[in-house]
Amino acid sequence: MSDKKKIAIIGAGAAGLSAAFYLSKDKYNITVFESAPFVGGQASTININGGLLERGYHHLFTNDYSIIQLMKDLNIYNKLIWYPSKVGSYIDGKTYSTTSPFDLLKLSALPILDRIKLGLFSIKIKNIKNWKSLEKYTANEWLQNNLGGQSYDKFWKPLLRAKFGDYYDQIGMPWFWSKMQTRFASRKGKIPISFLNKEVLGYPDGSFEIIFDELKDYFVKNNINLFLKSPVTKIIPQDNSSINLEYKQNNQINTDNFDLVLSTTPSFIFNKLVNLPSSYLNKLNSVKYIGALVMIIELEHKLTDHYWVNIVDNKIPFLGLIEHTNMLSRKTYGDKNIVYLTNYLDRDHHFFSKDKDQIFDMYIPHLKKFNPNFTKKWISNYHINTLSAAQPIIGTNYSQSIPSHQTPIKNLFLANTTQIYPEDRGTNYSIRMGKNLADKINKT
Ligand SMILES: Cc1cc2nc3c(=O)[nH]c(=O)nc-3n(C[C@H](O)[C@H](O)[C@H](O)COP(=O)(O)OP(=O)(O)OC[C@H]3O[C@@H](n4cnc5c(N)ncnc54)[C@H](O)[C@@H]3O)c2cc1C
Repeated sequence: MSDKKKIAIIGAGAAGLSAAFYLSKDKYNITVFESAPFVGGQASTININGGLLERGYHHLFTNDYSIIQLMKDLNIYNKLIWYPSKVGSYIDGKTYSTTSPFDLLKLSALPILDRIKLGLFSIKIKNIKNWKSLEKYTANEWLQNNLGGQSYDKFWKPLLRAKFGDYYDQIGMPWFWSKMQTRFASRKGKIPISFLNKEVLGYPDGSFEIIFDELKDYFVKNNINLFLKSPVTKIIPQDNSSINLEYKQNNQINTDNFDLVLSTTPSFIFNKLVNLPSSYLNKLNSVKYIGALVMIIELEHKLTDHYWVNIVDNKIPFLGLIEHTNMLSRKTYGDKNIVYLTNYLDRDHHFFSKDKDQIFDMYIPHLKKFNPNFTKKWISNYHINTLSAAQPIIGTNYSQSIPSHQTPIKNLFLANTTQIYPEDRGTNYSIRMGKNLADKINKT
């Protein structure tokens, strides 16, 4: 019998996989349980004509240090490629480039004074060092007070809506501040004032799946068990501080005992797996999630000149258009142009109960607005993906709403996207969280 302690990780997304990777193999026997038949969680992929593509568009920023470090640790950092980003905004029937500060100066949808204000405002945000002083404000009220006018209504407000849907006016200002710092950091070039440079975005050659594949190989070599199609159904703390897990496999319920359990499931799943004291439960339940509805279309031709288009038009039923093949070559996907049409919506929004064809009929007629030559004949295939825990709503004074990683139950830990703050949730921060928890557990 091995005298190693047994650790269970629930969820094989970025957080669970990185925790398993960084936990000490000398000290622990590790088992990862994943309900889906694949790993990667929200960053998982599907096969498009031989090329792997994320179910929801994914890219990295240059300050995504934890995922960069993981790629270095896996010896695949050379596979991370940086691409110039091309961002646009669809305003009043036209798509404007908004990639660089110079583009903003040329943004004729706004009066010239508003354009100048927009540029100066970026400098103001960049110079704010202490985000804690912003905690009591929503981004909506802070931006209205400090910027206001058309530059808020036609530029920043739509960006908040693209990210948070109807919850755009509830988001805490530190979230916005942090997002801006990330975007500034991802600007690279020769100009000494960094934010005047062009933004670059990273994407692994072969998709995010190459990271997950490498981790799976590592698990096999290091005797880490990875159980797919094995949802954990119950967490049962024992009197001796160990924890029983009930999980489903091949239609059977099994039970196993562990010394420590780390759950990386969303809060609305975790709160059903285990009985928790009300103070902790209230914190878990206080953070709302919205879901994402993402349509991927395969096209015979290029639709736009942009990688990312924010949509400022209430008549268009989606909030963002991401033309992935304006970053990567269309050759990767069997010579098709790949476009994502994306929406962040309440988890019970009626769009989620529509079938694939209804979404198609609702979305596709609007594509002509982005390219007058577009016809349905361009579409060779399409896919709909839904993600239920796509985005936690990060409200004001959020630092007080975050549940701790150590739950009130001994040896039971939680690591999910509601605990990432003030940064925007993302693969990098789930990996950082998984590693930090592994480091902490390794020291016990
Ligand atoms: C549309 C969209 C676009 C995004 N774009 C980017 C981007 O450009 N760049 C970026 O870095 N990030 C992006 N993200 C965010 C990023 O994908 C996530 O923040 C990250 O992948 C979350 O990882 P995680 O491990 O914390 O959670 P998850 O990926 O949600 O993993 C949790 C895992 O737990 C499993 N699970 C749940 N319940 C159980 C159970 N009972 N038993 C066993 N397993 C269970 C789930 O199946 C899942 O695999 C995007 C997300 C979305 C939705």
